[in-house]
Amino acid sequence: MPTTVRALQGDITQLPVQAIVNAANTSLLGGGGVDGAIHRAAGPQLLEACRRLGGCATGEAKLSQGYRLPAAYIIHTVGPVWHGGNRGEPALLASCYRRSLELAAAQGIRRLAFPSIGTGVYGYPLELAAQVAVSTVRAALEEFNEFDELIFCCFSARDLQLYQRLLAAPPGAPPSPA
Ligand code: ADP
Repeated sequence: MPTTVRALQGDITQLPVQAIVNAANTSLLGGGGVDGAIHRAAGPQLLEACRRLGGCATGEAKLSQGYRLPAAYIIHTVGPVWHGGNRGEPALLASCYRRSLELAAAQGIRRLAFPSIGTGVYGYPLELAAQVAVSTVRAALEEFNEFDELIFCCFSARDLQLYQRLLAAPPGAPPSPA
């Protein structure tokens, strides 16, 4: 069965998937944006579990349980802070998606949702980040056939429109202008 890859608009903390990805920071001890929302929804046990994870490097990913979330697991990954794009940001962002998928596959997770990593406080331009997200996920799916469904969970209608446009384009097609 081919993996379904789709985008939807919503709050990732509410999604009934097996795992959600958190756009965390290197401390893994909580923050603003989607990280804060996930910690609030999962409850205080998440912070305790994250303390034991010992932080996470940019571009890497670590696993915890989901506690009070509908999702059984959380994959915490750390996006790059955007410094203009010449400090390895695209490769680091691609690594977030790639390492999250590897961790999910190793754990037998088949339904996974991503937020738009790096595009909040970390300042990665949304369109560029979405191109990296979609192309990295597609490339990984050429190798792993372990997933039933991968979701890009968009917080705004604008993000959703962008992801839907990228997902509608055939793989490898140059991005069309907005
Ligand atoms: P980063 O530090 O990686 O930039 P942010 O959490 O600031 O992470 O933002 C990442 C993306 O997550 C942004 O597009 C933001 O709008 C989105 N976001 C914030 N809260 C939620 C939520 N509850 N569900 C899904 N996406 C969210």
